[in-house]
Amino acid sequence: MDSKLSSCSADACRVARSVILEVDLRAEIYPISMEHDIVDKLKLLCLSSEEKGEVSLEEIDVFKSKKECERSLLGKMFGSKKPNFAGLRNTLLNIWQTKEVFSVREIGQNLFQFVFASQEDKLKVLGGKSWSFENQYLILREWYDNILDHVESFTSVDLWIQVWNLPYHWITMETGRKIGIKFENILDVLIPKLGSSKGRCIKVLVEIDLAKPLLRETFIKLREESRWVDFKYENLQGFCSYCGVVGHLDKLCQKKRDDTKKNTLSGDNLASG
Ligand SMILES: [Zn+2]
Repeated sequence: MDSKLSSCSADACRVARSVILEVDLRAEIYPISMEHDIVDKLKLLCLSSEEKGEVSLEEIDVFKSKKECERSLLGKMFGSKKPNFAGLRNTLLNIWQTKEVFSVREIGQNLFQFVFASQEDKLKVLGGKSWSFENQYLILREWYDNILDHVESFTSVDLWIQVWNLPYHWITMETGRKIGIKFENILDVLIPKLGSSKGRCIKVLVEIDLAKPLLRETFIKLREESRWVDFKYENLQGFCSYCGVVGHLDKLCQKKRDDTKKNTLSGDNLASG
């Protein structure tokens, strides 16, 4: 083997080890992307015979952790703002009202594991409504073995949407179900009861993909009669009215900043031309 190459690999190995050591010492939590970077770098290195020798585990070695994971939920904050950990824990302890106290671990960037004392407590929380904290949705998923490989795809929540501007005689369950098809997944439809003061809109509970711009309206027709209907999202959190997506407010919108910059630049060009 080329001695220069071999020596470079050994150096790289030392560097990679020191990176891991530094990360371990500085914080218990570090971004998963950094973890992957380190693993990728190590794959390129020559391993010593000691390193190549595998460590065999028995089921009993991971039994306790597996049982905990089975009683847990993964929670992903949808947005870039890092929540206050103690504030999140205390707020959820108050609103979830589980029979026994649950524990929370921060396991990545805006990523948490909630470990419950029982399946009953876990399913109670999972079966509840959409949760949010500090204007960001907390997306919950039941734990499974490779869940951390799929975190990026967890972008949907269940939301109630009011459908306004319908002719009164079109307000039926069937109309609600057909309009609900516009969304990812329709879960429920409510039409106003006779005598209700909120008698002018249909409500649909739908699964929404927060990674896509929200629908604001749609066009419906019955023979020659047609109408634009408006969607109003109940308790919408962290919505940017500029680009129409959830996860940041207008003042933090990158698209708005980019557009403003472009307009300023084109304005400058016009002025100088
Ligand atoms: Zn925006």
